[in-house]
Amino acid sequence: MLAAQLPGPLAVGAEARTTIAGAESNVAIGLARLGHRAAWAGLVGDDEPGRLILRTLRGEGVDTTHAGARPEAPTGGMLRERRVADLVRVHYWRSHSAASLLAPADLAPALDAGARVLHLTGVTCALGPGPLKAVREAAAHAHAHGWTVALDVNHRQRLWTVEEAGRALLPLLPHITVLIASDDELPVVTHALADRPEGEERAVGALLDAGIRDVVVKRGGAGAAFRDRDGSRHAVPALHVPVRDTVGAGDAFCAGYLSGLLDGLPPEQRLARANTLGAFAVASDGDWEGLPRRDELPLLAAAPGTTIR
Ligand code: ADP
Repeated sequence: MLAAQLPGPLAVGAEARTTIAGAESNVAIGLARLGHRAAWAGLVGDDEPGRLILRTLRGEGVDTTHAGARPEAPTGGMLRERRVADLVRVHYWRSHSAASLLAPADLAPALDAGARVLHLTGVTCALGPGPLKAVREAAAHAHAHGWTVALDVNHRQRLWTVEEAGRALLPLLPHITVLIASDDELPVVTHALADRPEGEERAVGALLDAGIRDVVVKRGGAGAAFRDRDGSRHAVPALHVPVRDTVGAGDAFCAGYLSGLLDGLPPEQRLARANTLGAFAVASDGDWEGLPRRDELPLLAAAPGTTIR
């Protein structure tokens, strides 16, 4: 990814920062920084951008043993344009990328290695029939082996329509333990349900009826809400932080929620950790660069302008 540094239209010679980003890899980095063992499985091209991605992930402590590098297709690209101070436009070069070649066999070694949690996102499902099949088979395998399967809906309207996403994600639902969605993404999954429930309350209820154990709703600057099949409900407000860059907040949130789950925290504390990671992401530049290590989790409680000496 190249991220233009200053607000304004793209221009020759404009400064851009080189980095890497991706919904699942952002989550993996977030978890690794908190001290969890995280692995990323997927495909990059056998090229310099692909090598940059894998060595950055390894540098962050993410296991890339089961990531593949393909010579026949390039690593996908992304350019982030800061069009005006707080409006970001993202341009993708994803078609025919190495990641779009993903097929079930590519994930088999990672699945055979085993895990407690499998994290999936709607972004990979949108890359094509092969990636969608790979995600579906991974979810079925993980579910059959008793892992927790988390799905972040992560709807990308540049990649597919709400109708296409709904039809593709519906067959995944029976394998999903934890569904994470923004409040405005709930209709993506629920409109494909037979009774098309309207409103957040009924949408969440319908997802629980469909067999999901935990439904977690991200509400941006308003925090997050949780409801599970046992009837427990919680809403936890967001932290007050200066907003630098909101891209990546959802992925950071997922890392925080899954970290809480892995640590055996009760739902309210999982949401609080998720909001804390989301707040670190919005208060720093980059999708994942500002995410905290475990001993930094309490930092945002400090008064604005604090210097820690
Ligand atoms: P997405 O990036 O997927 O659209 P949200 O915008 O809902 O997701 O943000 C995800 C999470 O990040 C929120 O649930 C919240 O915890 C945190 N967050 C987002 N915006 C802010 C904000 N302005 N202040 C503090 N936390 C925020």
